Amino acid sequence: MRAGIVIAAWTLLAVALPVRAADGDKSMIAIAIHGGAGVISRVLMTEEQERAYRTDLGRALDAGYAVLEAGGTSLDAAVAAVRILEDSPYFNAGKGAVFNHAGVNELDAAIMDGKTLKAGAVAGVRHVRNPIELARLVMDRTSHVLLTGEGAEEFALEQGVALVPGSYFYTERRWQQLEEARRSDKVAATGEDIGYFGTVGAVARDRDGNLAAATSTGGLTNKRWGRVGDSPIIGAGTYADNASCAVSATGSGEYFIRAVVAHEICARVRLGGRSAADAARDVVHKTLVDIGGDGGVIVVDRNGELTMEFNTEGMFRGARDSRGRREIAIY
Ligand code: ASP
Repeated sequence: MRAGIVIAAWTLLAVALPVRAADGDKSMIAIAIHGGAGVISRVLMTEEQERAYRTDLGRALDAGYAVLEAGGTSLDAAVAAVRILEDSPYFNAGKGAVFNHAGVNELDAAIMDGKTLKAGAVAGVRHVRNPIELARLVMDRTSHVLLTGEGAEEFALEQGVALVPGSYFYTERRWQQLEEARRSDKVAATGEDIGYFGTVGAVARDRDGNLAAATSTGGLTNKRWGRVGDSPIIGAGTYADNASCAVSATGSGEYFIRAVVAHEICARVRLGGRSAADAARDVVHKTLVDIGGDGGVIVVDRNGELTMEFNTEGMFRGARDSRGRREIAIY
């Protein structure tokens, strides 16, 4: 009799558990963010600086998560998170972006919707406070994907997007880095933090299983000739497809363009049957390294699994999901 009850209980549990797990996964919400990868020296970073980075990463992560928790879309969550990092002076996007050779901030951003495969991007804008919002408008309100420079700003004006004077983006630290880069004739973020990039991005999965990716950057210190990196190039620094995953990248952009990193990871998942974690690891530690690229990616797959992979010393990053994970990390 007792054995019968035990067996019956086990049978019930065996039937009930997988159903509950599957239901849980279906409505799983998850978000990951990054604030750039590179040589981030523990020795040179003061406790106060580290606290400031962590605070702004945490604010961005929680703002994005709050959108998902309230039933909002992955697109809205990604924009909410990236906007906060653009407004923070610590990251190389929006306020605090790096300077080009001429001493001007030129900003790039992109967003992609994994449900429709629609995408919007801007490159080389100089007066848009939140380039990620303009990228979203390109996606939502035009039949185009990528607008550049003056044309992109004309579109911003038409859409009623407030433009800011170039001086809004200025920070002393970035100016010093430009001067040093000019002296040594280097094209990179240099200074105390040689090789530190600082681009920002977010990937998210909402309750309905829709994925989104968003990336925003000032590019590289001392860049010239209208140089554009991987961030606004769909498939290179930014990609999302509900059938596989959503990716936002940071690192030496030229290599990410040549390896089509974000799309490559999603393609390996979709066609090669790899997990997003395996695909990201292979591409970041093998494909990229083989051609000399450094940096990292954040990935969310269609089940809401988050991966943060980098081949540099550190990557400013954060992850949060409805299973209770909440993590902010640098090294
Ligand atoms: N990937 C960006 C670029 O090359 C730089 C960065 O990640 O900080 O424009």
